[in-house]
Amino acid sequence: MTTKSSVSRLKGVGPILEKALAGAGIFTIADLLNYYPRRWDSYLAIKSIRDIQPGLVSFEAKVERVAMRMSHRNRRLTITEAILSDSTGTIKAIWFNQPYLAQTLVANNTYRFRGNYEYKNGYISLQAPTFDKLTTRPFKQDIIPIYPETKQLTSTIIRKLIAQCMDVSDQLEDSLPDAIVKDHELLPKSASIRILHTAESEAQLDSAKRSISFEEIFELVLTGLVIKRNIKTSKAVEIVYKPEVAQKFVGLLDFELTPAQKKAAHTILEDISKDSPMNRLLEGDVGSGKTLVALMACVMAKQSGYQSAIMVPTEILARQHFLGSQKLLEDIGMKSVLLISDMKKSDRASTLELIKSGEVDCVVGTHALISSAVEYHNLGLVVVDEQHRFGVNQRSTLKGKASSMPHVLTMTATPIPRSLALVVYGDLDVSIIDELPPGRKPITTKVVKDKDRIHVYKHIDSLIEQGQQAFVVCPLISESDKLGVKSVEGEFRVLQQSVFRHRRIGLIHGKLKSDEKTQIMGDFKAGRLDMLVATSVIEVGVDIPNASIMLIESAERFGLAALHQLRGRVGRGKHQSHCYLFTPSDNPASLKRLEALEKTSDGFRLAQIDLETRGPGEIYGTMQHGLLNLRLADIFDHQLVAEVKKAATAFIDKHNLLEYSQLAEKVNSLKSITSLD
Ligand code: ADP
Ligand code: MG
Repeated sequence: MTTKSSVSRLKGVGPILEKALAGAGIFTIADLLNYYPRRWDSYLAIKSIRDIQPGLVSFEAKVERVAMRMSHRNRRLTITEAILSDSTGTIKAIWFNQPYLAQTLVANNTYRFRGNYEYKNGYISLQAPTFDKLTTRPFKQDIIPIYPETKQLTSTIIRKLIAQCMDVSDQLEDSLPDAIVKDHELLPKSASIRILHTAESEAQLDSAKRSISFEEIFELVLTGLVIKRNIKTSKAVEIVYKPEVAQKFVGLLDFELTPAQKKAAHTILEDISKDSPMNRLLEGDVGSGKTLVALMACVMAKQSGYQSAIMVPTEILARQHFLGSQKLLEDIGMKSVLLISDMKKSDRASTLELIKSGEVDCVVGTHALISSAVEYHNLGLVVVDEQHRFGVNQRSTLKGKASSMPHVLTMTATPIPRSLALVVYGDLDVSIIDELPPGRKPITTKVVKDKDRIHVYKHIDSLIEQGQQAFVVCPLISESDKLGVKSVEGEFRVLQQSVFRHRRIGLIHGKLKSDEKTQIMGDFKAGRLDMLVATSVIEVGVDIPNASIMLIESAERFGLAALHQLRGRVGRGKHQSHCYLFTPSDNPASLKRLEALEKTSDGFRLAQIDLETRGPGEIYGTMQHGLLNLRLADIFDHQLVAEVKKAATAFIDKHNLLEYSQLAEKVNSLKSITSLD
């Protein structure tokens, strides 16, 4: 048997189990060995019954008596009880609905029991312990691997199968270079894997986990470094930094840039004046004014004769960016166009022509910017707003439309914790705008239950009476049978027919035609509507300073980052703004998550909470597929990440990756799924 052998060669694997294994992605012995436990239950080994404390325990004892009876309260429930003893005392064990145990456990025999000693229904007992006949195996701390299970594939079965291939595990090879394994006191891969399945102590398990985590992070970080180096060594267009132009641009604004905006702009303008391509992420909370910083770079690009493209995730946002910047750009002598999918044929044709001929300096649009029909003229700068909404491919396609390597600025309001950024982006440069323009009033936020709905409506109505405007956001477009989840169509009707009968209400969602959306957003912006019932199409970027109320229905259905973004749609003007989060949920965890929004307006903090509760995959979506590769590693282990980073940098400085075929292969496959470039 080798690691490449089929699992069907293992004892106990018939067609049914083979199919179940295949369903879990396990075909070969190597696959099986690489099937990591989901968690480890450790049972504290207890020497004598007298010492037993509540918790997971493991001990040896003799069965004094065992008996089965029916529950008094519930006739269908059987209860099996056993009295266990050793020389120091006795203890009661209890099982529900396992009547056969009364036969399996034999009085006067000694077993090793494992279970949870806990209070339940008023008295303390050992709850449904598992037990083995005493074997000769030394009595150590019991660490039981628990695997991701399916109906046919239980942890017990997996443990039995893995036990058969322990000998073969020696054949597993390290992808990490030997020197690194030695320098960082890691275990060889084969040893780590063996321990994951058969750990005998916590210390042993910890060092195995550390070794595997190190390897996982190393591969990702190395991929980042390799990509970064490729970018750094390619030549980019030079965009000359002309301070007088920057000054002129700033002079056109009717406010001052914040110090953080100035700093970010300065760094970016320096970056693009170099002949190696910029690859920078601009992080800044909702409303911190990232757009202007990006526009400054576009202005500078034009000065050096280059076109720029700004790609945003939604049509509404594209329009808004375009309309918001058009005048400013015109004043500084630039022509901009809007490019979206839903355009009249003739408009589209003439827009494409303008872009191709170079008459246009700045193209603002959605993913229509990357459609094959679009040809740019000297594209030198690519800006991707709300970058986490785009996939790796979309971003690289846009880049590929430049004749030579363009500078790339990506922007996000969903900040990425430093250690995560290091792993995911390698050395991608990051700028942070860490302050909001002055005068913004914090938005009061409240999680609201249905019983208080009428008070909230009354308050909203009084604000509308004063000329303010409100958003009402629901998760769904149409009514569905999902209990308690609100839809915009349903809510629109209800609001129109009852409480807000006398108000002007609009409805917007992604399925509307482009010009309908434009019309409605325009009406709302111009104050022709008091209330806008919307899906999360308005989540990002929408800027309507007179809107001061954000009411979100079924709020528990949204992530914190999304809620924070939605909340960021208000608080942009002179009014005190309010955010109401309605939820039918009584689930303490989801209420707690929502309450985080009441307490903080710091997007960074919220992203962190979101990450801890939902994991990076949920939040950063396709952006970080590379993270799927991390099976054991904890990206918040700052110390380990820093150590790996140092090791990977030193490695790539001194060695030729191609000489490490296994590692090179890994890096290659990761390249296509990470978002590093
Ligand atoms: P975001 O970072 O969320 O993309 P925007 O770029 O949309 O933020 O800016 C939000 C609003 O703040 C816009 O209306 C913009 O004109 C305004 N703004 C940007 N910078 C400043 C500033 N320094 N002072 C006042 N208002 C600003
Ligand atoms: Mg923005």
